[in-house]
Amino acid sequence: MFDRASVVTPGGVNSPVRAFRAVGGTPRFMVSGTGPYLTDADGREYVDLVCSWGPMILGHSRPEVIAAVQEAVSRGTSFGTPGEGEVALAEEIVARIEPVEQVRLVSSGTEATMSAIRLARGFTGRAKVVKFAGCYHGHVDALLAAAGSGVATFGLPDTPGVTGATAGDTVVLPYNDLDAVRAAFAAHPGEIACVITEASPGNMGVVPPADGFNAGLKELCAANGALYISDEVMTGFRTSKAGWYGVDGVRPDLMTFGKVMGGGFPAAAFGGRGDVMAHLAPAGPVYQAGTLSGNPVATAAGLAQLRLLDDAAYAKLDAVSAELRSLVGEALTKEGVAHTVSAASNMFSVFFTDQPVRDYDDAKKQDVFRFTAFFHAMLEQGVYLPPSAFESWFVSTAHDERAVERIAAALPAAARAASEATA
Ligand code: PLP
Repeated sequence: MFDRASVVTPGGVNSPVRAFRAVGGTPRFMVSGTGPYLTDADGREYVDLVCSWGPMILGHSRPEVIAAVQEAVSRGTSFGTPGEGEVALAEEIVARIEPVEQVRLVSSGTEATMSAIRLARGFTGRAKVVKFAGCYHGHVDALLAAAGSGVATFGLPDTPGVTGATAGDTVVLPYNDLDAVRAAFAAHPGEIACVITEASPGNMGVVPPADGFNAGLKELCAANGALYISDEVMTGFRTSKAGWYGVDGVRPDLMTFGKVMGGGFPAAAFGGRGDVMAHLAPAGPVYQAGTLSGNPVATAAGLAQLRLLDDAAYAKLDAVSAELRSLVGEALTKEGVAHTVSAASNMFSVFFTDQPVRDYDDAKKQDVFRFTAFFHAMLEQGVYLPPSAFESWFVSTAHDERAVERIAAALPAAARAASEATA
């Protein structure tokens, strides 16, 4: 299948991190998913710790979500008109996340961040955007400077095809460094439209904000007439009922969402302050649109998923994550492998270094070759980890005792492989 794919698709994949280039080997083609398990085209079953890179927070093929999708599909798949499903999903988002007074639905996280920075520029009449090294906000041209995720995985400093004019208004700063943000505002008075940050980064591995970092960003933005945009595409509806906002309570001007809110379908959103959102077409002059925005099947899936995400679901996610973190830590310690298990709520990743990781430079200092050995040993034993040392691991409410036991059983050999690996 990979050979076939490689003939008709660049690199054989439709999103670079799926290709296993960072770890080597042939990517697995999955044919079905049930609960915490995926089955590949050769019939092998894996415990899934990628969960489609975050969306499958209830596990695969959750009956209530499948039923909602089937019901929606039976009424047609796209109308290109307003519909009740998109209103209900918007109401659910507004009800959960207090700073979001209005929301616009789109189809991908990339579209959400692209539209949010356009709106911030239109609202403030300013051009510059501040972002942080190692934060990934989708493949928006202006935000592909020093980005995380696949860009981190491949060590690309930047990407050809993004012109100087497009990236020239992007100011890239080290993460967790408020002094750098202060200096940027001082260097560009009246020019910065917004600061965009992952609410709690998961695209350079999991690197949570230091105490007071997000609050400091908010304050600096407010003092300098810029908007604070919190990208919750990954953390939204995952790290708590109200995402990372529910954890740190720092009130963004604009927020972006994706992944979990689509229930496995292409649905994403941006929203926030009513006076800012009022600048968006057709209410205001900043243009933004989409043929499939608010698609009835995607919104039905997202709504069904969000409605199942109650307090008990988040307690379950936190408990599974804590258990896995301690199992991974114990296995690596037993083999003498230097490591740091880094967590933000139920998101976590393992850095193969014992030094603290506060930013992208720290993350890059880990022994990536040890992750590679660890990854392949887990895969051989039927545990599917993200194929990169710079990605979050994701759990679901479907990760039950049996799934955790299978992971626990695979860990000793993987830790040994990490310990024996050479650069
Ligand atoms: N923002 C963050 C924080 C993300 O993690 C991602 C994707 O991983 C995006 C934006 C882009 O979302 P999408 O892949 O749906 O375009």
